Parts: sequence; C-alpha cells; structure tokens
Amino acid sequence: MIDSFFTLDKYSNYLGWQMPPGMPDGSFMHTGFTGTYVLGIPRHKLSMVLLTNRQNLGTDATGFFPDVGPLRLAAGQAILAAVDPQSTSAHFEPADFQSGKWLKGNTHTHTLESDGDSPPDTVAAWYKSHGYNFLVLSDHNVWVDPARFAYLFDSTFMLIPGEELTTRFEKKPVHVNGLNIPRVIPQITDSTLLGTIQKNVDAVRAMNGVPHINHPNFGWAISEDVLWKVNNDKLVEIHNGHPLVHNEGGGDSPGMEMVWDYLLTKGKRIYGIAVDDAHHFKGEFAANRANPGRGWVVVRAGKLDALEIMTSMEAGRFYASSGVELDSIRVAPQDITIGIRQRGDFKFTTEFIGKDGTVLKKTGANPATYHLSGSEAYVRATVTNSGGEKAWIQPVFVVH
Ligand SMILES: [Zn+2]
Ligand SMILES: [Zn+2]
Repeated sequence: MIDSFFTLDKYSNYLGWQMPPGMPDGSFMHTGFTGTYVLGIPRHKLSMVLLTNRQNLGTDATGFFPDVGPLRLAAGQAILAAVDPQSTSAHFEPADFQSGKWLKGNTHTHTLESDGDSPPDTVAAWYKSHGYNFLVLSDHNVWVDPARFAYLFDSTFMLIPGEELTTRFEKKPVHVNGLNIPRVIPQITDSTLLGTIQKNVDAVRAMNGVPHINHPNFGWAISEDVLWKVNNDKLVEIHNGHPLVHNEGGGDSPGMEMVWDYLLTKGKRIYGIAVDDAHHFKGEFAANRANPGRGWVVVRAGKLDALEIMTSMEAGRFYASSGVELDSIRVAPQDITIGIRQRGDFKFTTEFIGKDGTVLKKTGANPATYHLSGSEAYVRATVTNSGGEKAWIQPVFVVH
C-alpha cells in the first residue's frame, strides 16, 4: 500500500504527492491553496509542516496571491542543512519541473501583417490545431492585437502579444523579439552593434516585456563575444526553423549550441529557445521554405497565463524542441533525470554537457540520468532521436 503511493508515475510524481525541488531522493510534498505545506524526507526520518495564510493580504496588482514557494524551499533547506551537512556541499540549484503542467508554445512567427503569407487568424489556427497552447505573433515592427482573435482563445490556447523589433547595424541584421508587450515598440538603431542590440532589449524591458535575441548567425551578424556583453537578456534562439539562419555554424563561425556553452561557461545565465520563425503556411512544405512546426518550447507553468509563462521561461523552467518530447525533468541535489516520451520505435541518445561544451556523459537509457561529480559549473542536456530531431534541456547550475 505504502509502496504504491511512492511509485513514480510517468510525470515523476507520486500518487497524490509531488516531488519537492532540492530535496533528497524519496522526499515528497503537498501544498494547499491557502499556503499550507507538508514535506516528508524519509531519508532523514523528517517531516515538516509549514502553515501560512497567503490569502490574508489579498491579491497583488496582477490578481495573484503571494507566491510562498521560495519560503517553502528556504524553510525545507534550512532544516535539511541542520541534519545533513552533506546537503550543503556541491549540489544542483533547485529547479522545479514538477509543479504546474507542460504548455507547448512558439514565440516567433509571421503573418500577412509583415512578410508572412497568411492572415493572423489562419496562422493562430494552425498552431492551435497542432496542439500548441500559446503563440506569439511576432511580425516585423508590427504589433498585432490578440484581442482581435479572442474567439480562438479557450482553456487550451491563447495568443501572447509580441513583435519582432527589426533593424540593422551597418549590414548586420539585428532582430529582437518582444514578448508580452502592450503595444508596438519602435525599433532602435544605435552607433554600435552592441548598442543597437542593447537598446532594443532595453526598450522591451521598459514595457515589462520579455526580450529574446533572434538567430544570431543570420547574416553572421552577432558573434558570441557581442552576445556576452548584452545585459538584461535571459533567452536566446539556439534553434530557429528558418532555412537561412545557420543554426549549425560553419567555417570559422561556431554553431548556436557552441555559442550557448561559451556564454554559460563565462557565467552568463542564459536559456536556449527553439522557434520556427514560420513565414509560409501555404503551398508546399519544403526544407527551403520557412514552414511552421520546426521549433518550439514546452514550459512548466501553473496555468495558461502570459505572465506565468514568461516568468517560467526566464527562470529556465522549460525545454526547447525540434521534435523530441519529454515526459519529465527532475532535478535532485545530486542528480538530473530526464524521462523521454517514447514515439514509435525511435531510439534516443542523451548527452549531458558542461562547461566549454564538454560532453560529460552520453547514454541511450530512458530515463536518462546524470549524477553530479561536484566539479561542474552547470549541466545541460540534449536528447537526439534516431531521426535527428532534438530536445534541449536548460542548464542547471551547480552551487559549490
Ligand atoms: Zn528575424
Ligand atoms: Zn522572424
């Protein structure tokens, strides 16, 4: 009976219990809406009950009750540190991929409002009918009001407003997406390449939006040392489905994954996203056309809400994909475990990658696990299927 309560389901949860982030294997937790919390740590024969009343002060300006998650985590960790000094040696930062649910979305696509070939409602309907939960229509320097298409919204699908701020510095294209922005933001060109990128990023932040730097290798415009100097950005495209953007690099120019590891190794906390940058919804779907469905993100969020999705993405609570789907990601103090969703008779190779892009472990197992050695600065992972499609698991940082 007890065993069946403590058997992991396919989402890596116990029956009626969740896995607490940052706790030893076998720990379990349950949260209540009013702010109650129960934590069990069988390894140390410990249980903790935390009672708060998070409803007492009412909702904040965005309509949410205060988030007591950080308090729960801090209380649990203080108790754990007292009984288990080992828990304060090298460990992964807590990363919660258990609460909430997976939401699939694309943050970069085009319509007839700029250089796409189909009207916004046709484009939105394509994503909705292909199982996406959210979509950003990001036309070049055009903001499309999602309220025009509210009839497409339901409990499974929403549009998040956005724009692709599109400019050049000299001959180099500078494209920065603004997600969840309330109106059009004029693109900005500055006296340097870095300044041009930074000012567009800052303009998005000034509107409480979320910026992401698009296809850095398009036009071989934005090198890794320039990306390193940009501030206040958390997201960069490491996979873009447009056929002309050079995801893989070539010659003396590194591919986007290598650029990502360069930034992470130098200490920039940046997460890699996949998008399709679709322009072509009509006619033949072919490798030389910018068709939809070639890149997306799957975000862990409590509900289908733009702000919640944005917050999760900027905290790295998502994975990027060009075709591989996951059931679960679990980060324990010493381990990362990735549950890969089986599809047909596909086989999967998982690579765990650390600083300078070094492959730390390669495995064909599912779930794929990595055990911390203690010398890593960060660990990220890619899962590649036997058809060449990929999932990119975000870096988890190591506390020493
Ligand atoms: Zn672009
Ligand atoms: Zn684009």
